[in-house]
Amino acid sequence: MKKITIAIDGFSSGGKSTMAKELARKIGYIYIDTGAMYRAVTLYCLMNNLIKDNVINREKLKKEIDNIKIDFHLNPETQLPETYLNGKNVEKEIRGMEVSRNVSNISAIGFVRTAMVKQQQEFGKSKGVVMDGRDIGTVVFPDAELKIFMTAAPEIRARRRYEELTAKGEKVSFEEILENVKQRDHIDQTREESPLKQAKDAIVLDNSNMTKEEQNAWLMHQYLLALEK
Ligand code: C5P
Repeated sequence: MKKITIAIDGFSSGGKSTMAKELARKIGYIYIDTGAMYRAVTLYCLMNNLIKDNVINREKLKKEIDNIKIDFHLNPETQLPETYLNGKNVEKEIRGMEVSRNVSNISAIGFVRTAMVKQQQEFGKSKGVVMDGRDIGTVVFPDAELKIFMTAAPEIRARRRYEELTAKGEKVSFEEILENVKQRDHIDQTREESPLKQAKDAIVLDNSNMTKEEQNAWLMHQYLLALEK
Protein backbone atom coordinates (compact mmCIF):
# COMPACT_ATOMS: atom_id res chain seq x y z
CA MET A 1 0.00 0.00 0.00
CA LYS A 2 1.30 3.43 -0.99
CA LYS A 3 2.43 5.53 1.98
CA ILE A 4 2.34 9.31 2.01
CA THR A 5 3.35 12.19 4.28
CA ILE A 6 0.55 14.21 5.86
CA ALA A 7 1.36 17.69 7.19
CA ILE A 8 -1.16 19.48 9.39
CA ASP A 9 -0.35 23.07 10.34
CA GLY A 10 -2.30 25.79 12.05
CA PHE A 11 -2.87 28.01 15.06
CA SER A 12 -2.58 26.84 18.66
CA SER A 13 -5.41 24.92 20.31
CA GLY A 14 -7.20 24.47 16.99
CA GLY A 15 -7.80 20.73 17.37
CA LYS A 16 -4.98 19.70 14.99
CA SER A 17 -3.62 17.00 17.24
CA THR A 18 -7.00 15.38 18.00
CA MET A 19 -7.78 15.11 14.31
CA ALA A 20 -4.26 14.05 13.32
CA LYS A 21 -4.07 11.36 16.03
CA GLU A 22 -7.40 9.89 14.99
CA LEU A 23 -6.42 9.67 11.33
CA ALA A 24 -3.04 8.13 12.18
CA ARG A 25 -4.71 5.51 14.37
CA LYS A 26 -7.23 4.59 11.66
CA ILE A 27 -4.75 4.27 8.82
CA GLY A 28 -1.88 2.83 10.87
CA TYR A 29 0.49 5.79 10.42
CA ILE A 30 2.94 7.22 12.96
CA TYR A 31 1.70 10.42 14.59
CA ILE A 32 4.19 13.11 15.59
CA ASP A 33 3.11 16.12 17.66
CA THR A 34 5.88 18.64 16.96
CA GLY A 35 4.35 21.16 19.40
CA ALA A 36 5.07 18.58 22.12
CA MET A 37 8.73 18.64 21.08
CA TYR A 38 9.00 22.43 21.51
CA ARG A 39 7.09 22.09 24.77
CA ALA A 40 9.57 19.44 25.97
CA VAL A 41 12.52 21.74 25.20
CA THR A 42 10.74 24.49 27.16
CA LEU A 43 10.20 22.15 30.11
CA TYR A 44 13.88 21.23 29.99
CA CYS A 45 14.76 24.95 30.19
CA LEU A 46 12.40 25.52 33.12
CA MET A 47 13.72 22.48 35.00
CA ASN A 48 17.36 23.43 34.46
CA ASN A 49 17.06 27.14 35.27
CA LEU A 50 17.67 28.22 31.68
CA ILE A 51 14.72 30.62 31.91
CA LYS A 52 14.76 33.24 34.65
CA ASP A 53 12.31 36.18 34.78
CA ASN A 54 11.31 35.45 31.18
CA VAL A 55 14.92 35.69 30.00
CA ILE A 56 16.33 32.64 28.21
CA ASN A 57 19.97 31.70 28.71
CA ARG A 58 20.58 31.06 24.99
CA GLU A 59 24.28 30.36 25.30
CA LYS A 60 23.73 27.55 27.79
CA LEU A 61 20.75 26.21 25.83
CA LYS A 62 22.83 26.13 22.65
CA LYS A 63 25.50 24.06 24.41
CA GLU A 64 22.88 21.63 25.73
CA ILE A 65 20.48 21.39 22.78
CA ASP A 66 22.05 18.24 21.34
CA ASN A 67 21.61 16.50 24.69
CA ILE A 68 17.84 17.07 24.64
CA LYS A 69 16.35 13.85 23.27
CA ILE A 70 12.66 13.64 22.61
CA ASP A 71 10.75 10.43 21.87
CA PHE A 72 7.18 9.28 21.66
CA HIS A 73 5.93 5.97 23.10
CA LEU A 74 2.44 4.52 22.95
CA ASN A 75 0.69 4.31 26.30
CA PRO A 76 -0.43 0.66 26.34
CA GLU A 77 -3.68 1.51 28.16
CA THR A 78 -4.87 4.48 26.11
CA GLN A 79 -3.05 3.50 22.89
CA LEU A 80 -2.09 7.17 22.57
CA PRO A 81 1.47 8.45 22.05
CA GLU A 82 3.10 10.19 25.01
CA THR A 83 6.12 12.49 25.06
CA TYR A 84 9.43 11.48 26.67
CA LEU A 85 12.21 13.92 27.49
CA ASN A 86 15.58 12.20 27.94
CA GLY A 87 13.81 8.95 28.80
CA LYS A 88 11.25 10.42 31.23
CA ASN A 89 7.53 10.62 30.52
CA VAL A 90 6.66 14.34 30.55
CA GLU A 91 3.29 14.20 28.78
CA LYS A 92 1.44 15.84 31.67
CA GLU A 93 4.05 18.46 32.59
CA ILE A 94 4.40 19.85 29.06
CA ARG A 95 0.67 20.72 28.80
CA GLY A 96 0.58 23.10 31.80
CA MET A 97 0.36 26.89 31.66
CA GLU A 98 3.97 27.49 32.74
CA VAL A 99 5.21 25.72 29.62
CA SER A 100 2.52 27.37 27.44
CA ARG A 101 3.64 30.81 28.62
CA ASN A 102 7.24 30.23 27.52
CA VAL A 103 7.07 27.87 24.55
CA SER A 104 6.63 30.41 21.76
CA ASN A 105 9.76 32.27 22.82
CA ILE A 106 11.76 29.03 22.92
CA SER A 107 10.44 27.91 19.53
CA ALA A 108 11.40 31.24 17.94
CA ILE A 109 15.13 30.45 18.48
CA GLY A 110 16.85 29.38 15.26
CA PHE A 111 19.15 26.68 16.68
CA VAL A 112 16.24 25.13 18.61
CA ARG A 113 14.25 24.87 15.36
CA THR A 114 17.21 23.41 13.45
CA ALA A 115 17.61 20.67 16.08
CA MET A 116 13.88 19.85 16.20
CA VAL A 117 13.40 19.88 12.41
CA LYS A 118 16.29 17.42 12.09
CA GLN A 119 14.62 15.03 14.54
CA GLN A 120 11.24 15.50 12.80
CA GLN A 121 12.66 14.71 9.37
CA GLU A 122 14.24 11.60 10.84
CA PHE A 123 10.89 10.50 12.37
CA GLY A 124 9.18 10.93 8.98
CA LYS A 125 11.86 9.65 6.61
CA SER A 126 10.03 6.42 5.72
CA LYS A 127 6.72 8.26 5.06
CA GLY A 128 3.53 6.87 6.60
CA VAL A 129 3.49 9.77 9.03
CA VAL A 130 0.95 12.34 10.17
CA MET A 131 2.80 15.32 11.64
CA ASP A 132 1.22 18.42 13.12
CA GLY A 133 2.77 21.78 13.91
CA ARG A 134 3.34 25.22 12.43
CA ASP A 135 5.94 24.69 9.71
CA ILE A 136 5.47 21.07 8.63
CA GLY A 137 4.14 21.82 5.14
CA THR A 138 6.47 24.78 4.60
CA VAL A 139 9.80 23.70 6.14
CA VAL A 140 9.90 20.16 7.54
CA PHE A 141 8.20 18.34 4.65
CA PRO A 142 7.67 20.84 1.78
CA ASP A 143 7.03 17.84 -0.51
CA ALA A 144 4.28 16.29 1.65
CA GLU A 145 1.55 14.77 -0.52
CA LEU A 146 -1.22 16.14 1.72
CA LYS A 147 -1.04 19.50 3.49
CA ILE A 148 -3.80 20.88 5.68
CA PHE A 149 -3.91 24.36 7.20
CA MET A 150 -6.34 24.60 10.12
CA THR A 151 -7.87 27.75 11.43
CA ALA A 152 -10.66 28.86 13.82
CA ALA A 153 -11.51 32.03 15.76
CA PRO A 154 -9.25 32.62 18.82
CA GLU A 155 -12.27 32.66 21.19
CA ILE A 156 -13.35 29.23 20.00
CA ARG A 157 -9.84 27.81 20.37
CA ALA A 158 -9.45 29.34 23.85
CA ARG A 159 -12.81 27.89 24.92
CA ARG A 160 -11.72 24.38 23.86
CA ARG A 161 -8.39 24.71 25.68
CA TYR A 162 -10.13 26.07 28.78
CA GLU A 163 -12.45 23.07 28.87
CA GLU A 164 -9.55 20.68 28.32
CA LEU A 165 -7.44 22.14 31.17
CA THR A 166 -10.27 22.54 33.69
CA ALA A 167 -11.33 18.93 32.99
CA LYS A 168 -7.80 17.92 34.04
CA GLY A 169 -8.24 19.93 37.26
CA GLU A 170 -5.96 22.83 36.36
CA LYS A 171 -7.02 26.18 37.85
CA VAL A 172 -7.05 28.66 34.98
CA SER A 173 -9.24 31.53 33.84
CA PHE A 174 -10.75 31.76 30.36
CA GLU A 175 -9.30 35.28 29.93
CA GLU A 176 -5.80 34.06 30.75
CA ILE A 177 -6.08 31.33 28.13
CA LEU A 178 -7.52 33.61 25.48
CA GLU A 179 -4.66 36.04 26.09
CA ASN A 180 -2.13 33.17 25.82
CA VAL A 181 -3.69 31.87 22.57
CA LYS A 182 -3.60 35.37 21.00
CA GLN A 183 -0.08 36.00 22.19
CA ARG A 184 1.17 32.68 20.79
CA ASP A 185 -0.59 33.35 17.47
CA HIS A 186 1.19 36.68 17.28
CA ILE A 187 4.65 35.35 18.14
CA ASP A 188 4.22 32.31 15.85
CA GLN A 189 3.17 34.46 12.87
CA THR A 190 5.69 37.25 13.24
CA ARG A 191 8.88 35.41 14.22
CA GLU A 192 11.77 35.48 11.76
CA GLU A 193 12.49 31.75 11.83
CA SER A 194 9.86 29.66 10.03
CA PRO A 195 6.81 31.79 10.89
CA LEU A 196 3.42 30.13 10.87
CA LYS A 197 1.99 30.55 7.41
CA GLN A 198 -0.14 28.61 5.01
CA ALA A 199 1.79 26.60 2.41
CA LYS A 200 0.71 27.55 -1.13
CA ASP A 201 -0.53 24.03 -1.81
CA ALA A 202 -2.27 23.51 1.56
CA ILE A 203 -6.00 22.87 1.84
CA VAL A 204 -7.63 25.19 4.39
CA LEU A 205 -9.96 23.84 7.04
CA ASP A 206 -11.88 26.31 9.22
CA ASN A 207 -13.31 24.08 11.95
CA SER A 208 -15.04 26.84 13.96
CA ASN A 209 -18.44 25.26 13.39
CA MET A 210 -17.57 21.60 12.90
CA THR A 211 -17.95 18.65 15.24
CA LYS A 212 -15.02 16.29 15.80
CA GLU A 213 -16.79 13.62 13.74
CA GLU A 214 -17.23 16.01 10.82
CA GLN A 215 -13.55 16.98 10.96
CA ASN A 216 -12.43 13.35 11.08
CA ALA A 217 -14.60 12.42 8.11
CA TRP A 218 -13.36 15.45 6.16
CA LEU A 219 -9.70 14.53 6.81
CA MET A 220 -10.23 10.89 5.87
CA HIS A 221 -11.76 12.05 2.58
CA GLN A 222 -8.75 14.30 1.88
CA TYR A 223 -6.40 11.41 2.65
CA LEU A 224 -8.20 9.09 0.22
CA LEU A 225 -8.10 11.78 -2.48
CA ALA A 226 -4.36 12.33 -1.89
CA LEU A 227 -3.72 8.58 -2.21
CA GLU A 228 -5.30 8.57 -5.66
CA LYS A 229 -3.05 11.36 -6.98
O1 C5P B 1 0.88 22.75 19.05
P1 C5P B 1 1.18 23.38 20.39
O2 C5P B 1 0.26 24.50 20.74
O3 C5P B 1 1.31 22.39 21.49
O4 C5P B 1 2.62 24.02 20.19
C1 C5P B 1 3.25 24.74 21.22
C2 C5P B 1 4.09 25.86 20.63
O5 C5P B 1 5.20 25.31 19.91
C3 C5P B 1 3.37 26.75 19.62
O6 C5P B 1 2.71 27.84 20.24
C4 C5P B 1 4.52 27.23 18.74
O7 C5P B 1 5.11 28.36 19.33
C5 C5P B 1 5.53 26.11 18.81
N1 C5P B 1 5.57 25.27 17.60
C6 C5P B 1 6.38 25.66 16.56
N2 C5P B 1 6.53 24.86 15.46
C7 C5P B 1 5.90 23.69 15.38
C8 C5P B 1 5.05 23.27 16.43
C9 C5P B 1 4.89 24.10 17.53
O8 C5P B 1 6.96 26.74 16.60
N3 C5P B 1 6.11 22.91 14.32
